[in-house]
Amino acid sequence: MMQINFNREFLPVLDKCDVVVIGGSFGGVSAALALARAGRKVTLVEPRTYLGREITATLRPWIILSDKVNPTGLTDVIKECINSSGASAVAGEIPLHMNAVKTCLEDLVLTAGIKLIYASLPVDLCFAQDTLQGVVIGNKSGRQVILCKVLIDATETALVARLAGAKFGVAQKGQALFRYTLEFGKVGTLDETVLSVPDRLGIVNDVLMLHQGYGGRGNVLVEFEYSLPFGDMSDFELTQRDALVQQRTTDLAAYLLTEVPAFDQALLAGGSYELYGPHTPQLADPVSNWAHLPESVMVNAIATDGTELKTPAVSFSGPIPGIWLLNEAARVAEPMQALIRDPLISSQLGVSLADVINQQWGNVSAHPMKQAAEHNRTGQTQSASLQIKEAQQPQRGRAYDLHPAPDTSIPIICTADTIIVGGGTSGAVAAIVAAQQGIQTVLVEMNPGLGGTGTYGGIHSYWFVRHMGFEARIIDLVNQMQKRLRHGKIKGPIPEWNIEAKARALMQEAQTTGVKMLFNSLVIGTIVEGNVVRGVVVATRTGPVALLGKVIIDASGDGD
Ligand SMILES: Cc1cc2nc3c(=O)[nH]c(=O)nc-3n(C[C@H](O)[C@H](O)[C@H](O)COP(=O)(O)OP(=O)(O)OC[C@H]3O[C@@H](n4cnc5c(N)ncnc54)[C@H](O)[C@@H]3O)c2cc1C
Repeated sequence: MMQINFNREFLPVLDKCDVVVIGGSFGGVSAALALARAGRKVTLVEPRTYLGREITATLRPWIILSDKVNPTGLTDVIKECINSSGASAVAGEIPLHMNAVKTCLEDLVLTAGIKLIYASLPVDLCFAQDTLQGVVIGNKSGRQVILCKVLIDATETALVARLAGAKFGVAQKGQALFRYTLEFGKVGTLDETVLSVPDRLGIVNDVLMLHQGYGGRGNVLVEFEYSLPFGDMSDFELTQRDALVQQRTTDLAAYLLTEVPAFDQALLAGGSYELYGPHTPQLADPVSNWAHLPESVMVNAIATDGTELKTPAVSFSGPIPGIWLLNEAARVAEPMQALIRDPLISSQLGVSLADVINQQWGNVSAHPMKQAAEHNRTGQTQSASLQIKEAQQPQRGRAYDLHPAPDTSIPIICTADTIIVGGGTSGAVAAIVAAQQGIQTVLVEMNPGLGGTGTYGGIHSYWFVRHMGFEARIIDLVNQMQKRLRHGKIKGPIPEWNIEAKARALMQEAQTTGVKMLFNSLVIGTIVEGNVVRGVVVATRTGPVALLGKVIIDASGDGD
């Protein structure tokens, strides 16, 4: 595959700290807090614009408290989230308030003095004489370096390990089970906590599990499972899988709303932004004890049924000295392997691993890479005339220290007629129109779907707009989707749409017209040939890539 080189000599240093945690999962947040409270200087980098993905991104705002739950298995972080929601248990479950969880986690992090950086993805690592020196992150301001001694990879895709050149198991494509949630308001009385559905909906065991939402009576979360492709998938394939799931969940929502009596007054309020399931195989190479930790140094957790989960801390060591894994790539055995994505377990593992890192600091931090895995320095074909351009620094006029930029190349993964950056009102529509006219179109969006401010931004009505031309066509599409989801028509002087229906309508149209989409991906720079823009550099959850196009449309909403 053709590669293109990043060509800057120096990058601005955004921060210098002891530990960088990449990924604000419950594990990531808990580890960051434990280390900060022990006096370490910590920076937390989260690709999304909120924390706690195992509950928030997946739309799983509940804590199951069966009789067997061992209260010692609840970390302070989990307890604070429960308290902030102010709800009490209903049928063995505590419903959580999504906004309360997000703000609670953010408050905990900021109060502990942790630097929090949102909407940024790691794109490279920094080394000096084969010793890890820090991480390069990419965001709307280009690339910056954060210098550190320990790097905790709490991303679901093991992105830091990937950047370090780690090898993963299960390279071939297989299937795995993934959970999804639909949220409804105004649901009638339901006596059962499970509901059977027809086989044609493709749901595992044809069963839905029902959870009481925070909003009290009528607010119901419907959880179910799909068997979906899992393995060595490209970012395009991952987005395609998410788009397919959105289609299937629309069918399910339509079925519930039209055929199940308890839902006959209900409204679809939302769906999971992200699937709950495996996102990475384990590392393939055997545990390397570069930290020289004795087998007796353990990382512990207690499962909700009281089972003690213990594993040697070295199982969490990454491919390079200084990198630790707090995700499914860690080389841990069952049952910990399956439980690692559970927020209760993830939080405990975060605290326990942080304790080990803090106490064994001299061993566990970065040191020269004797016998460690080779890190990722590719030497493949460079594209001669293309150059990467990126923002010079996050803030104009501010002085930043500079750090030598790693000499890295990234793969050019596709060439299209048009690349559209941003899938908001303008970008989604531009992509649909271009694809309709037979133009090969690729759309890159940092959210997990389309609509921008008018969906993910939570804006459900516009006061001022002329409903004509393509706008009228979009209203028509959204109305069709709203009809399917048994929601009233968009009408009146200040028309209101159902946000979920609008996002689904745009996605369906984009798929039908053949737009190739890349979600959860952030454009961090452009590719130029002379003074002509030829493409974009994209930070994805599996690593940075380059896309080339004849026309590049900036629909980022803020001229990125
Ligand atoms: C509170 C409020 C009320 C409003 N009321 C009205 C109204 O009454 N009438 C009206 O006409 N307009 C109204 N607007 C304005 C309207 O929402 C915007 O004009 C419209 O959303 C602009 O669409 P857009 O596609 O340009 O940007 P957006 O909808 O913001 O979409 C931009 C998209 O680009 C993505 N993106 C950004 N940077 C990157 C990157 N680097 N990489 C990948 N993806 C990226 C974002 O995630 C986003 O999805 C209102 C806006 C707000 C906030």
